[in-house]
Amino acid sequence: MRLIEDPFEFQRECQRVRAGGGRLGLVPTMGALHQGHLSLVSAARERSDYVALTLFVNPIQFASNEGLSRYPRNLDGDLALCRDHGVDAVFAPAAAAMYLPGDATRVLVSRLSQGLCGASRPDHFAGVCTVVSKLFLLAGSCTAVFGRKDYQQLRIIERMARDLFFPVVVLGAPIVREPSGLALSSRNLRLGPAEREAALGLVRGLSRAQRLHLAGERAVAVLRDAALSSLQSHGLRADYVTLADADDLAEFEETVPQRALLALAAFAGDVRLIDNVVLGEDPALT
Ligand code: AMP
Repeated sequence: MRLIEDPFEFQRECQRVRAGGGRLGLVPTMGALHQGHLSLVSAARERSDYVALTLFVNPIQFASNEGLSRYPRNLDGDLALCRDHGVDAVFAPAAAAMYLPGDATRVLVSRLSQGLCGASRPDHFAGVCTVVSKLFLLAGSCTAVFGRKDYQQLRIIERMARDLFFPVVVLGAPIVREPSGLALSSRNLRLGPAEREAALGLVRGLSRAQRLHLAGERAVAVLRDAALSSLQSHGLRADYVTLADADDLAEFEETVPQRALLALAAFAGDVRLIDNVVLGEDPALT
Protein backbone atom coordinates (compact mmCIF):
# COMPACT_ATOMS: atom_id res chain seq x y z
CA MET A 1 0.00 0.00 0.00
CA ARG A 2 1.33 3.43 -0.91
CA LEU A 3 1.12 6.35 1.50
CA ILE A 4 1.14 9.64 -0.40
CA GLU A 5 1.25 13.09 1.13
CA ASP A 6 1.98 15.29 -1.87
CA PRO A 7 -1.10 16.25 -3.98
CA PHE A 8 0.80 16.16 -7.27
CA GLU A 9 2.27 12.78 -6.48
CA PHE A 10 -1.27 11.55 -5.80
CA GLN A 11 -2.35 13.00 -9.13
CA ARG A 12 0.49 11.23 -10.94
CA GLU A 13 -0.33 7.94 -9.22
CA CYS A 14 -3.97 8.18 -10.31
CA GLN A 15 -2.89 8.99 -13.87
CA ARG A 16 -0.51 6.03 -13.81
CA VAL A 17 -3.34 3.68 -12.74
CA ARG A 18 -5.56 4.83 -15.59
CA ALA A 19 -2.74 4.78 -18.13
CA GLY A 20 -2.32 1.09 -17.29
CA GLY A 21 -6.03 0.52 -18.01
CA GLY A 22 -7.03 0.37 -14.34
CA ARG A 23 -10.33 1.68 -13.02
CA LEU A 24 -9.86 3.98 -10.06
CA GLY A 25 -12.05 3.97 -6.94
CA LEU A 26 -11.90 6.93 -4.55
CA VAL A 27 -13.01 6.93 -0.90
CA PRO A 28 -12.74 10.38 0.71
CA THR A 29 -12.70 10.34 4.54
CA MET A 30 -11.57 12.37 7.53
CA GLY A 31 -10.00 9.32 9.17
CA ALA A 32 -10.62 7.68 12.56
CA LEU A 33 -11.80 4.86 10.33
CA HIS A 34 -14.56 2.40 11.28
CA GLN A 35 -16.68 -0.24 9.57
CA GLY A 36 -18.77 2.47 7.88
CA HIS A 37 -15.69 3.73 6.03
CA LEU A 38 -14.60 0.17 5.28
CA SER A 39 -17.97 -0.55 3.67
CA LEU A 40 -17.18 2.28 1.25
CA VAL A 41 -13.83 0.64 0.50
CA SER A 42 -15.66 -2.61 -0.33
CA ALA A 43 -18.13 -0.78 -2.58
CA ALA A 44 -15.24 0.96 -4.35
CA ARG A 45 -13.37 -2.33 -4.70
CA GLU A 46 -16.35 -3.96 -6.46
CA ARG A 47 -16.20 -1.35 -9.20
CA SER A 48 -12.49 -0.62 -9.52
CA ASP A 49 -9.07 -2.16 -9.88
CA TYR A 50 -7.30 0.30 -7.61
CA VAL A 51 -8.77 1.86 -4.47
CA ALA A 52 -7.43 5.14 -3.11
CA LEU A 53 -8.66 6.28 0.30
CA THR A 54 -8.07 9.85 1.34
CA LEU A 55 -7.48 10.87 4.96
CA PHE A 56 -7.87 14.57 5.49
CA VAL A 57 -9.53 16.48 8.32
CA ASN A 58 -10.60 19.43 6.22
CA PRO A 59 -10.16 22.60 8.31
CA ILE A 60 -12.40 24.83 6.19
CA GLN A 61 -15.54 22.76 6.78
CA PHE A 62 -15.42 23.41 10.53
CA ALA A 63 -16.67 26.70 11.99
CA SER A 64 -14.41 28.23 14.65
CA ASN A 65 -16.63 26.86 17.46
CA GLU A 66 -16.95 23.36 15.98
CA GLY A 67 -13.91 21.77 17.55
CA LEU A 68 -11.60 21.00 14.64
CA SER A 69 -8.84 20.31 17.17
CA ARG A 70 -11.08 17.83 19.04
CA TYR A 71 -11.85 15.80 15.91
CA PRO A 72 -10.53 12.23 16.51
CA ARG A 73 -7.31 11.35 14.67
CA ASN A 74 -5.60 7.97 14.46
CA LEU A 75 -3.21 7.84 11.51
CA ASP A 76 -1.39 4.63 12.49
CA GLY A 77 -4.63 2.77 13.21
CA ASP A 78 -6.15 4.05 9.96
CA LEU A 79 -3.17 2.92 7.90
CA ALA A 80 -3.28 -0.54 9.48
CA LEU A 81 -7.01 -0.87 8.70
CA CYS A 82 -6.44 0.26 5.12
CA ARG A 83 -3.63 -2.25 4.68
CA ASP A 84 -5.83 -5.04 6.09
CA HIS A 85 -8.69 -4.13 3.77
CA GLY A 86 -6.77 -4.06 0.52
CA VAL A 87 -6.60 -0.31 -0.02
CA ASP A 88 -3.96 0.37 -2.70
CA ALA A 89 -3.08 3.94 -1.77
CA VAL A 90 -3.78 6.32 1.08
CA PHE A 91 -3.59 10.02 0.30
CA ALA A 92 -3.02 11.91 3.56
CA PRO A 93 -1.94 15.48 2.78
CA ALA A 94 -1.14 18.22 5.27
CA ALA A 95 -3.59 21.12 5.39
CA ALA A 96 -0.90 23.43 4.03
CA ALA A 97 -0.51 21.22 0.96
CA MET A 98 -4.25 21.34 0.17
CA TYR A 99 -4.66 25.05 0.89
CA LEU A 100 -1.73 26.95 -0.56
CA PRO A 101 -0.77 30.37 0.83
CA GLY A 102 -3.31 32.90 -0.44
CA ASP A 103 -5.88 30.19 -1.11
CA ALA A 104 -9.08 32.00 -2.10
CA THR A 105 -11.25 29.61 -4.09
CA ARG A 106 -14.48 28.06 -2.81
CA VAL A 107 -16.98 25.79 -4.53
CA LEU A 108 -20.60 26.39 -3.61
CA VAL A 109 -23.63 24.28 -4.44
CA SER A 110 -26.27 26.84 -3.63
CA ARG A 111 -29.82 25.77 -2.71
CA LEU A 112 -29.11 22.18 -1.65
CA SER A 113 -26.61 23.46 0.94
CA GLN A 114 -29.03 25.77 2.72
CA GLY A 115 -31.46 23.58 4.69
CA LEU A 116 -30.89 20.66 7.08
CA CYS A 117 -27.28 20.81 8.35
CA GLY A 118 -26.65 23.93 6.25
CA ALA A 119 -29.04 25.98 8.39
CA SER A 120 -26.84 25.75 11.48
CA ARG A 121 -23.54 25.22 9.58
CA PRO A 122 -23.71 27.93 6.88
CA ASP A 123 -20.18 27.51 5.51
CA HIS A 124 -19.88 23.78 6.03
CA PHE A 125 -20.86 22.51 2.60
CA ALA A 126 -18.77 25.09 0.74
CA GLY A 127 -15.85 23.66 2.71
CA VAL A 128 -16.84 20.11 1.80
CA CYS A 129 -17.43 20.91 -1.88
CA THR A 130 -14.14 22.77 -2.14
CA VAL A 131 -12.07 19.92 -0.75
CA VAL A 132 -13.98 17.26 -2.68
CA SER A 133 -13.47 19.28 -5.89
CA LYS A 134 -9.74 19.31 -5.21
CA LEU A 135 -9.78 15.54 -4.61
CA PHE A 136 -11.81 14.93 -7.80
CA LEU A 137 -9.43 17.09 -9.85
CA LEU A 138 -6.40 15.30 -8.47
CA ALA A 139 -7.95 11.84 -8.91
CA GLY A 140 -9.43 12.41 -12.37
CA SER A 141 -11.83 9.89 -13.85
CA CYS A 142 -12.98 7.53 -11.08
CA THR A 143 -15.86 6.13 -9.05
CA ALA A 144 -16.11 8.01 -5.76
CA VAL A 145 -18.02 6.43 -2.90
CA PHE A 146 -19.83 8.41 -0.19
CA GLY A 147 -22.01 7.19 2.68
CA ARG A 148 -25.73 7.84 2.95
CA LYS A 149 -25.01 8.61 6.61
CA ASP A 150 -24.19 12.13 5.35
CA TYR A 151 -27.23 12.16 3.11
CA GLN A 152 -27.27 15.88 2.33
CA GLN A 153 -23.55 15.79 1.55
CA LEU A 154 -24.10 12.88 -0.88
CA ARG A 155 -26.87 14.71 -2.75
CA ILE A 156 -24.80 17.92 -2.88
CA ILE A 157 -21.75 16.13 -4.25
CA GLU A 158 -23.82 14.30 -6.86
CA ARG A 159 -25.18 17.66 -8.00
CA MET A 160 -21.74 19.29 -7.97
CA ALA A 161 -20.21 16.48 -10.02
CA ARG A 162 -23.03 16.78 -12.55
CA ASP A 163 -23.02 20.59 -12.73
CA LEU A 164 -19.24 20.92 -13.06
CA PHE A 165 -18.80 17.97 -15.46
CA PHE A 166 -16.41 16.15 -13.13
CA PRO A 167 -15.48 12.83 -14.76
CA VAL A 168 -16.58 11.08 -11.60
CA VAL A 169 -19.32 8.55 -10.93
CA VAL A 170 -20.65 9.35 -7.44
CA LEU A 171 -21.94 6.31 -5.61
CA GLY A 172 -23.96 6.32 -2.36
CA ALA A 173 -23.48 3.46 0.12
CA PRO A 174 -25.91 2.39 2.89
CA ILE A 175 -25.50 3.49 6.52
CA VAL A 176 -23.58 0.97 8.66
CA ARG A 177 -25.02 0.69 12.18
CA GLU A 178 -24.01 -0.95 15.44
CA PRO A 179 -26.26 -3.84 16.58
CA SER A 180 -27.96 -1.25 18.83
CA GLY A 181 -28.92 0.71 15.71
CA LEU A 182 -26.53 3.60 16.43
CA ALA A 183 -25.02 4.79 13.15
CA LEU A 184 -21.24 4.35 13.17
CA SER A 185 -19.41 7.68 13.29
CA SER A 186 -15.89 8.78 14.12
CA ARG A 187 -17.54 11.20 16.55
CA ASN A 188 -18.91 8.27 18.60
CA LEU A 189 -15.36 7.96 19.98
CA ARG A 190 -16.00 11.18 21.86
CA LEU A 191 -19.14 9.87 23.62
CA GLY A 192 -19.02 8.80 27.27
CA PRO A 193 -21.17 5.80 28.35
CA ALA A 194 -24.22 7.94 29.25
CA GLU A 195 -23.96 9.92 26.01
CA ARG A 196 -23.70 6.71 24.00
CA GLU A 197 -26.96 5.52 25.53
CA ALA A 198 -28.55 8.91 24.89
CA ALA A 199 -27.34 8.79 21.28
CA LEU A 200 -29.72 5.88 20.65
CA GLY A 201 -32.46 8.52 20.71
CA LEU A 202 -31.58 9.37 17.10
CA VAL A 203 -32.18 5.95 15.57
CA ARG A 204 -35.13 5.25 17.87
CA GLY A 205 -36.76 8.48 16.75
CA LEU A 206 -36.20 7.61 13.09
CA SER A 207 -37.56 4.15 13.70
CA ARG A 208 -40.74 5.43 15.39
CA ALA A 209 -41.41 7.79 12.51
CA GLN A 210 -40.65 5.04 10.02
CA ARG A 211 -43.23 2.74 11.64
CA LEU A 212 -45.85 5.51 11.58
CA HIS A 213 -45.09 6.21 7.91
CA LEU A 214 -45.32 2.54 7.08
CA ALA A 215 -48.75 2.48 8.75
CA GLY A 216 -49.87 5.28 6.44
CA GLU A 217 -49.12 8.43 8.45
CA ARG A 218 -48.26 11.32 6.10
CA ALA A 219 -48.58 14.42 8.32
CA VAL A 220 -45.24 16.22 8.72
CA ALA A 221 -46.16 17.38 12.26
CA VAL A 222 -46.89 13.85 13.48
CA LEU A 223 -43.80 12.24 11.91
CA ARG A 224 -41.60 15.09 13.08
CA ASP A 225 -42.93 14.96 16.64
CA ALA A 226 -42.35 11.21 16.83
CA ALA A 227 -38.65 11.75 16.10
CA LEU A 228 -38.30 14.92 18.13
CA SER A 229 -39.87 13.46 21.27
CA SER A 230 -37.43 10.56 21.09
CA LEU A 231 -34.49 12.98 20.98
CA GLN A 232 -35.90 14.88 23.93
CA SER A 233 -36.75 11.82 26.05
CA HIS A 234 -33.15 10.62 25.61
CA GLY A 235 -31.82 13.94 26.86
CA LEU A 236 -30.49 15.04 23.48
CA ARG A 237 -30.58 18.65 22.31
CA ALA A 238 -32.16 18.69 18.85
CA ASP A 239 -30.59 20.81 16.14
CA TYR A 240 -33.20 19.93 13.51
CA VAL A 241 -35.70 17.26 12.52
CA THR A 242 -36.65 17.73 8.88
CA LEU A 243 -38.75 15.94 6.29
CA ALA A 244 -37.57 16.69 2.79
CA ASP A 245 -37.64 15.47 -0.78
CA ALA A 246 -35.12 12.63 -0.97
CA ASP A 247 -33.63 13.95 -4.22
CA ASP A 248 -33.67 17.74 -4.20
CA LEU A 249 -33.93 18.15 -0.40
CA ALA A 250 -36.83 20.64 -0.62
CA GLU A 251 -38.57 20.59 2.77
CA PHE A 252 -42.13 19.35 3.17
CA GLU A 253 -44.41 21.59 5.25
CA GLU A 254 -47.72 19.74 5.64
CA THR A 255 -47.62 16.23 4.26
CA VAL A 256 -45.01 13.88 2.83
CA PRO A 257 -45.34 11.62 -0.21
CA GLN A 258 -44.73 7.87 -0.23
CA ARG A 259 -40.95 8.43 -0.38
CA ALA A 260 -39.34 11.13 1.78
CA LEU A 261 -36.12 11.83 3.63
CA LEU A 262 -36.34 12.16 7.41
CA ALA A 263 -33.05 13.64 8.61
CA LEU A 264 -32.04 14.87 12.03
CA ALA A 265 -29.15 16.27 14.01
CA ALA A 266 -28.79 16.45 17.78
CA PHE A 267 -26.18 17.10 20.42
CA ALA A 268 -25.16 14.48 22.99
CA GLY A 269 -23.20 16.72 25.35
CA ASP A 270 -21.11 18.78 22.94
CA VAL A 271 -20.93 16.06 20.27
CA ARG A 272 -23.13 16.74 17.25
CA LEU A 273 -24.58 13.59 15.72
CA ILE A 274 -26.63 13.12 12.54
CA ASP A 275 -28.74 10.30 11.17
CA ASN A 276 -31.45 9.79 8.58
CA VAL A 277 -33.82 7.36 6.94
CA VAL A 278 -35.52 7.50 3.58
CA LEU A 279 -39.15 6.70 4.43
CA GLY A 280 -40.76 4.43 1.89
CA GLU A 281 -37.36 3.23 0.63
CA ASP A 282 -34.95 2.12 3.36
CA PRO A 283 -35.46 -1.23 5.10
CA ALA A 284 -37.02 -1.23 8.57
CA LEU A 285 -34.64 0.14 11.22
CA THR A 286 -35.84 -2.21 13.96
P1 AMP B 1 -16.15 11.12 7.52
O1 AMP B 1 -14.80 10.52 7.74
O2 AMP B 1 -17.03 11.12 8.71
O3 AMP B 1 -16.09 12.45 6.80
O4 AMP B 1 -16.88 10.14 6.50
C1 AMP B 1 -16.27 9.76 5.30
C2 AMP B 1 -17.27 9.01 4.47
O5 AMP B 1 -17.71 7.86 5.19
C3 AMP B 1 -18.51 9.82 4.14
O6 AMP B 1 -18.91 9.55 2.81
C4 AMP B 1 -19.52 9.31 5.13
O7 AMP B 1 -20.86 9.42 4.70
C5 AMP B 1 -19.12 7.85 5.23
N1 AMP B 1 -19.61 7.26 6.47
C6 AMP B 1 -19.37 7.69 7.73
N2 AMP B 1 -20.04 6.94 8.63
C7 AMP B 1 -20.72 6.02 7.91
C8 AMP B 1 -21.61 4.95 8.26
N3 AMP B 1 -21.94 4.67 9.51
N4 AMP B 1 -22.12 4.20 7.25
C9 AMP B 1 -21.80 4.47 5.95
N5 AMP B 1 -20.97 5.45 5.57
C10 AMP B 1 -20.44 6.22 6.52
